[in-house]
Amino acid sequence: MYNKGNIFNIQRFSTSDGPGIRTVVFMKGCPLNCAWCHNPESKSTAAELFYKGELCIACGSCSNVCDANGHTLTDDMHLFDRQKCVGCGKCVEVCYSNALEICGEEKNTEEIIDIVLRDRPFYEQSGGGLTLSGGEPLIQYDFTLSLLKLAKQHGLHTAVETSGFSVRDLTVLNDFVDLWLYDIKVFPEEEHIKYTGVSNKVIFDNLYQLDRIGARIFLRCPIIPDVNITPQHFTAITDLTNTLDNITAIHLETYHPLGLSKAEQLGKGQLYQNNKFLEPSVLEPFADILREKTNKEVVIL
Ligand code: SF4
Ligand code: SF4
Repeated sequence: MYNKGNIFNIQRFSTSDGPGIRTVVFMKGCPLNCAWCHNPESKSTAAELFYKGELCIACGSCSNVCDANGHTLTDDMHLFDRQKCVGCGKCVEVCYSNALEICGEEKNTEEIIDIVLRDRPFYEQSGGGLTLSGGEPLIQYDFTLSLLKLAKQHGLHTAVETSGFSVRDLTVLNDFVDLWLYDIKVFPEEEHIKYTGVSNKVIFDNLYQLDRIGARIFLRCPIIPDVNITPQHFTAITDLTNTLDNITAIHLETYHPLGLSKAEQLGKGQLYQNNKFLEPSVLEPFADILREKTNKEVVIL
């Protein structure tokens, strides 16, 4: 029984991760490396440190507690060596200027569901529930399965937001999933490899398999300027939707640049450098065409 796993956030009162008011559990770890990643803190399964250099007052408290010698003070200058950090979080507790923040912690399923259950009255009023997101929930498949089983024992509505990139059997999970929020990023395989680092073959195989067993699916399509805002991309979404039996909605997720500063604080680079928010109005004409050609609910997020 895998009842422990790594998560990096529990967000209550979300209204954009499935129907109604929901609590979203963000799981650590992702096998993809999307050029525009909105949550770069999710990529590694291990705990990581955010370091905001502009808040550091070079007090040296962190270097006094770090057994791994991750922090050093030289000439009143603080240097952080990320390679040495093992993510224990001790330095965060003594950094009173909030220059350090730990991202990622191990929790068990009971602890998580206890938090999720706090908002049960809101789920009941709004038709909401629990959403597992990330990162990629399928990378911690056994923990995800345990969490979903426990959620269903408590009568919660469950949704899983996924890239679909997994060799594990999603039909087993589907017994405990009321709704899949299934990402579709780019269609040509070579483009998918270019922008995410992996082939989309297994992603489509899993999507078709879920559709065959009658799973309820919303397509979630990140829309990224200069990558996939093209008529061909929306035609491909239309064709995909119309070849499947169980797509009930299409969500177009507008690009935002918030991942850039987070990547910087994590000492990571982002391939896609664009600091402009995509205006939702840009997508209205595409959304209208999708509605007309698929007869599905289309939402711009
Ligand atoms: S404890 Fe915080 S403020 Fe002090 S040197 Fe370390 S990172 Fe900077
Ligand atoms: S999290 Fe732990 S290992 Fe990493 S820098 Fe802080 S004290 Fe050192």
